Amino acid sequence: AQNSGPAIPRYVRVNTLKMSTRKAITILRESIKDVEIDDLIQDLLVLPPGTDLHKHPLVLNGSIVLQGKASCMPAQALSPACDWEVLDACAAPGNKTVHLAALMAGRGKITACEINEKRAQRLQETVRLTGATNVTVRQQDFLTIDPTLPEFTKVRGILLDPSCSGSGTTVQRLDHLLPSAGTDKNDDQEKDRIEQLARFQETALLHALSFPSLEKLVYSTCSIHQRENEDVVLAVLPHAKEKGFELSNPFPSWPHRGLPVFEGADLLIRTDALRDKMDGFFVALFVRKSSSSTSKK
Ligand code: SAM
Repeated sequence: AQNSGPAIPRYVRVNTLKMSTRKAITILRESIKDVEIDDLIQDLLVLPPGTDLHKHPLVLNGSIVLQGKASCMPAQALSPACDWEVLDACAAPGNKTVHLAALMAGRGKITACEINEKRAQRLQETVRLTGATNVTVRQQDFLTIDPTLPEFTKVRGILLDPSCSGSGTTVQRLDHLLPSAGTDKNDDQEKDRIEQLARFQETALLHALSFPSLEKLVYSTCSIHQRENEDVVLAVLPHAKEKGFELSNPFPSWPHRGLPVFEGADLLIRTDALRDKMDGFFVALFVRKSSSSTSKK
């Protein structure tokens, strides 16, 4: 590495819709000596710090996706079955959408919802580039989707990765700025912004929980703030429980957990830029208790 920051590995996810992991490793090893398979995320490769693959042919043709480890956790936490109908509620630019598509081996049905027109176009381009033919892009406000419409009554998995403060995604900057990075602004404006985001996140999470055939729901942010993470989960938990959902632990071996602000927060996943050498992310997995016995054919 050319800078004196921490040695932060680079990650690429193999898009198994286009190429096998074995083949991607063989090709990458022609130019990069040290290519390892990640120990937690399927089809994720760990590369030496500083590796720049932006212009690599495999990136340009969609065979591998530049995606950090933390950003791969939500789709793997959801782990939908190949034949499921799945909704990615806030989808652009679509990295998690096409990760879901790969986990489902291009089968089943994914609806990728995005409110913003330009970002929906970007999402469509991600879908096209990666060959995720089981994805349909829908430019719409997720909150206005009617879960009782025939096209949504069979949705069994939802990934909700809504707009957030992005406070966890400073890791790339930490490459250059450590140890001064990570100081909280904490001014009134920032507090207001976070409060507004958290209210939207709660509303979106409640809406997601209202889909009639839902079995698994992942809520994720790239924020480090309790208000957008544990507090949002706690706010919807009574409603979720009423509907038969409980929190579940998607990565039992992962050491870093939700802040201990309520009983069960140890089921939540946090990543920490400094300790884990990746973006700061938060992942919560809700599973409907009755799902295995009632909703399968
Ligand atoms: N999951 C994406 C990925 O991994 O590539 C990143 C999603 S980004 C954190 C949140 C996205 O949600 C933004 O593109 C934003 O425009 C979109 N969004 C915000 N409010 C929305 C709403 N009410 N309905 C649908 N999309 C929304």
